[in-house]
Amino acid sequence: MSLLFLAPLSSTVRVGAFVFANLGYAEATVCPHCKDTILPAAHPATACPLVTELNNNAAIFTNKRLGSSPTVVHSLTHELAMQFTRPVIDAIVGLACAPVHGLSIDFTDPTYTQSNAVVKAAVYGHCSFAEASAILSERLDAAGDMPSIEKIRGAMDSLKSASESAVNTATGTHLFVWARVSNVISKRLDLTFKLEAAGKSKATSHSATLVRPETESEFYEMIHLFVMVVISLGLSSAIIVMKFIDDVVFGTVRMKEHFGVAHELLLLYLREIDFDPARVLHMANVFRRGGQDTLMSEARRNAAASFRTCGANLQLDGAKYPGSDRATKNLKPDIKPNGKHDDSSKKPCADFNAGRPCRTLKADGSCVFSHRCNQFVSDKGPLGYCFGPHARCTGCTYADDKKLKSPAK
Ligand SMILES: [Zn+2]
Ligand SMILES: [Zn+2]
Ligand SMILES: [Zn+2]
Ligand SMILES: [Zn+2]
Repeated sequence: MSLLFLAPLSSTVRVGAFVFANLGYAEATVCPHCKDTILPAAHPATACPLVTELNNNAAIFTNKRLGSSPTVVHSLTHELAMQFTRPVIDAIVGLACAPVHGLSIDFTDPTYTQSNAVVKAAVYGHCSFAEASAILSERLDAAGDMPSIEKIRGAMDSLKSASESAVNTATGTHLFVWARVSNVISKRLDLTFKLEAAGKSKATSHSATLVRPETESEFYEMIHLFVMVVISLGLSSAIIVMKFIDDVVFGTVRMKEHFGVAHELLLLYLREIDFDPARVLHMANVFRRGGQDTLMSEARRNAAASFRTCGANLQLDGAKYPGSDRATKNLKPDIKPNGKHDDSSKKPCADFNAGRPCRTLKADGSCVFSHRCNQFVSDKGPLGYCFGPHARCTGCTYADDKKLKSPAK
């Protein structure tokens, strides 16, 4: 130490001493990956769970190891972890290991040696339940000793009980992840969902319904969560998925397209990857492959059908019925709107006004609210609406100087 106080010491020596001291400090104490936020304490950088988990996860997808489960405990947020439970993650592996659509699988492949793998093949849609059951009976006939007979019998039992919970193979790996991510946001305020999440059945883990983002900021949050999941699972490296999102999503928004077009375009590219018959497309090559114009026009058409943009004129934010936020979303998911509505209701339907399917339905599928305009106005008393026979998103015809941002008191 006293060396530093020696005035005639050359500056190069002093810089050298400083760098050396710094390196020594970093190596001895702080992990460069997790900054020591993850146990075990004082692990060497090469043994950091953040790094080893990611490498193990990536290997599961590269080697298509059906039945192995990626670990994501250290990489997902609490909210994401509630949506990406163990059965959900297993389903993602199952989808990723599926053979090319329409091809039958080879049960002599080492992947399917274990009887349990045959059950998984059926659950994840690699083969039909009938096929799996036939294979197991064949193996039962050939089985020589008691332990292997027991094993096959056990597998046949779990095959029977699993038959209602098969993964829908019409959803590809990436589309499944995207739909699951959309549920993180749409179910955020759904208390029942949170309470049930712990005891979720297999069947719910194996299905995912896409809920399209309602706002641009919701869309960007979904992208952020999607990137996090894709990286943690080891489906793709950080740089690859970020560049892909930059090309597909932000490239589209930079061209002044509506965010809905970017959303639909993203779905189309994920579909290209998931259903590529040759299995050569991935996030690093799908965008530069060409055919961008075709996909873009398809995205524009889909966006026009799925996102009704509320006109070019800026609309004042109109009424939403109480609790119209996500909490009430799928009260009765099996009832479909029948197009009818109750015009004797004093409440204008928020869904009709936003141009989306009605969500608050009677048992016959008719909307409980009136299909009238929910623009707040100043000259119809407290909580006054325009109530004209039009949807606010198609342009409200009420006098502009009487439109209000919030209800009249
Ligand atoms: Zn670490
Ligand atoms: Zn309605
Ligand atoms: Zn409605
Ligand atoms: Zn109106």
